Amino acid sequence: MIQEKTIVPGLTTREAEKRMKNFGLNEIQHKKKASPIMIFLSQFNDFMVWVLLGATIISGIMGDTADAITIIIIVIVNAILGFVQEFRTEKSLEALKNLAAPTCKVFRDGGLKVINSAYLTIGDVVVLEAGDRIPADGEFLEGSSIMVDESLLTGESVGVSKDTNKKEKRSGYMGTTMLKGKGLFTVTSIGMDTEMGKIANLLDNIKEEKSPLKERLESLGKILVVLCLVICAVVTILGIIRGNDITEMFLLGVSLAVAAIPEGLAAIVTVSLALGVSRMLKRNALVRKLPAVETLGCTSVICSDKTGTLTQNKMTVKEVYLNGKICELDKEKLTDYTMLMKSLVLCNDCNYDFNVKNIDKALHGDPTETALVKLFFKDTNLLKAFVEKSERVYDIPFDSTRKMMSVIMRENGKECCYVKGAPERVIEKCSYILENNKIKPLTYQKKKQVASFIEAMSSRALRCIAGAYKDENLTRSEKLEDGLIFIGVAGSIDPPRAEARDAVLRCKLAGIKPVMITGDHKNTALAIAKSLNICNNDDQVVTGEDIESMTDDELKKKVEKIRVFARVSPDHKLRIVRAFKRNNNVVAMTGDGVNDAPAIKEADIGISMGISGTDVTKEASSMILMDDNFATIVSAVEEGRVIYDNIRKFIRYLLSCNLGEVLTMFLASLLTLPNPLSPIQILFVNLATDGLPAIALGVDPADKDIMRQAPRDRKEGIFARGLTEKILVRGSLIGICTLLSFMVGRYYGMNLETCRTLTLATLVMSQLFHVFECRSERHSIFEIKLFTNLYLVGAVSFSIIMLAAILYIPFLQGIFHTVPLMINQWMIVLFFSGIIAFINSIYLFIKTK
Ligand code: ATP
Repeated sequence: MIQEKTIVPGLTTREAEKRMKNFGLNEIQHKKKASPIMIFLSQFNDFMVWVLLGATIISGIMGDTADAITIIIIVIVNAILGFVQEFRTEKSLEALKNLAAPTCKVFRDGGLKVINSAYLTIGDVVVLEAGDRIPADGEFLEGSSIMVDESLLTGESVGVSKDTNKKEKRSGYMGTTMLKGKGLFTVTSIGMDTEMGKIANLLDNIKEEKSPLKERLESLGKILVVLCLVICAVVTILGIIRGNDITEMFLLGVSLAVAAIPEGLAAIVTVSLALGVSRMLKRNALVRKLPAVETLGCTSVICSDKTGTLTQNKMTVKEVYLNGKICELDKEKLTDYTMLMKSLVLCNDCNYDFNVKNIDKALHGDPTETALVKLFFKDTNLLKAFVEKSERVYDIPFDSTRKMMSVIMRENGKECCYVKGAPERVIEKCSYILENNKIKPLTYQKKKQVASFIEAMSSRALRCIAGAYKDENLTRSEKLEDGLIFIGVAGSIDPPRAEARDAVLRCKLAGIKPVMITGDHKNTALAIAKSLNICNNDDQVVTGEDIESMTDDELKKKVEKIRVFARVSPDHKLRIVRAFKRNNNVVAMTGDGVNDAPAIKEADIGISMGISGTDVTKEASSMILMDDNFATIVSAVEEGRVIYDNIRKFIRYLLSCNLGEVLTMFLASLLTLPNPLSPIQILFVNLATDGLPAIALGVDPADKDIMRQAPRDRKEGIFARGLTEKILVRGSLIGICTLLSFMVGRYYGMNLETCRTLTLATLVMSQLFHVFECRSERHSIFEIKLFTNLYLVGAVSFSIIMLAAILYIPFLQGIFHTVPLMINQWMIVLFFSGIIAFINSIYLFIKTK
């Protein structure tokens, strides 16, 4: 146990702030971000928009000035909409980056604080541990067995050891990582003055990962562009052949192309991924890589750590094994008791401040270790005496592969070794046992007796830690741990998290396998897994030892049935991920320690812990759990499914609407009808229906049975499960119905302006009905609760108001060449725009009943 130091190094907040003003932030400056003006101008970076503007200006010069101005205004309004979307996305992604910014533990005003590494300044003293990334250049002041990975700077992948006593071996550099040990580090240079700063430009060339979905949509977009252009050209040429005005036809063709080419498709994917990411953050999952959101929805296995993720990580010692029995500590005031206390408390890294009376506030450190100190806390004086009279001279820190920890303490001029760790590991190293104050040989019989007690304690869900010691033949290496004297075992309970059971159930309903991976004993793991319903029989567990005896093929075969992996080391995790992946699973895997990083990288979704995770694991992960909670993983998977569904929704909407628009014009020209819409009207439809309603679909809440379906296949394309057919059928019907309304108008002898107004209203209204249909692939409009998506209600209302405005405000009527529609004309509009949605909904309603 370590007592808090009386003289704490470091700066005061005031001094740090002063220095920060002088020296600037501890940041590597990257290339400049695009300014808002650049983002706005980039909205015009579209070939068809330039052709449209060119054609408009020409037609303006040739006399149609009002039309030309209107078109230009529409183009600008569209650009503003695009800008707002893109700017918001940039902002929210930027905010996420800041949240994911590295932090460090620094001494300020005499206490240890966690701050954003950017606020670190020269003279600060930070605490660095295995797994931390060094936040600035500086020197190690204190610490033992420190090993740093400097491959980022040197390319050498071997760890470099640091020695605080030798000047030339004290330096540490920003961006390199602590592999082993713990130390105090003082900052000497920051930001662009660091070695890393000097090579910062190289880092700028690292590409951001593109979402595969976005890439696929971009290439689809290119095909659609060509297709649209061909159709628009045909419409234009047929019109010209038929003797229509050439400029008018050209403008019409270009307007149609601008309206129908789904240029926003790929962009909306980014918007909806970004919005989804901020929703996930509200549920405590911080997504570090945008494409991960897509994969999340396909997750078929969640491999989760036990301690802290499925359990509360609040440990309390419940049972102690000493002198051959489970005992009550009060009655064991023997040497055995004091030796157990010494081994568990001195071989312990938690900090304790004896001046603070409230033990929970006074004690800081790993819950496994604090629980042990608490156990002996009743004997404060004895505890104090041990801690104050002994000094740690050497240690081999705990690591999750060895599962034990050892220290050499100097007490009254004599050196003594204390060991604590997983009971089987400790007992392997013991040759003697302390019983009723006597050291006896640890015979085979005795070993069996101890083992059976440990088995029994573990089956009661207790996490067991054994204590051992020796005071002779001390070598400063792992040999130190040979020939130890076994003392006893403390068993702690770590209750499951209340919400974990429900989350496990949700996983199962959603066709996802929840799997527990733990360093703990098989029985402990099994007891907790059963209580959480992760598994129900004893065949579903294997241990690290079992894994070692299996080949990769054997593991691959067996892994599907396994729900609990116990007593595993981090390198087993990598094999587990690979085995699941070879069976075509999409694997999410959690981890916190440095050694977990390779497995996290290998997993389809690597998840690191926000609270207990190390920097290296966080950087390797695609998602950080801010609350270390298993239930959060399940929520994130759900959110991943929702986002994917929503992307399908707006793709369905946008493409069928655009198809409807193109077909209306195309069919009219094939049937040698007059143009059913003017260029301005086409652009208006695009403005009123494409933008806001599509974005609103992107934030649609989850379908109620989204977590009752099997995960989708990762290889499944976005258009799978009948989406193409839906788009083609529905798009064609929108086109046909719109054209029919035009023909009905002509049949009743209405003039061309009225017929076009009728067509315009029908086209807009069909799309606004259709947007509600797109909210669910399985349910009819009647079953979807309208007010669960107020954005959509708002967007649709806004589009209707815009339509009403251009129909009924005289000034706008002039500009858009419309006439006010009468009630009976509205009947035609509503009939042709609503009929398909109505029939389709009745069909779906009957089908799902
Ligand atoms: P997970 O977090 O993956 O569920 P875990 O945290 O329980 O697993 P480890 O921390 O590797 O796994 O612990 C494995 C075993 O090592 C424990 O069962 C316990 O016996 C022992 N152990 C844990 N912490 C310490 C420690 N600080 N000192 C000594 N032994 C420890």
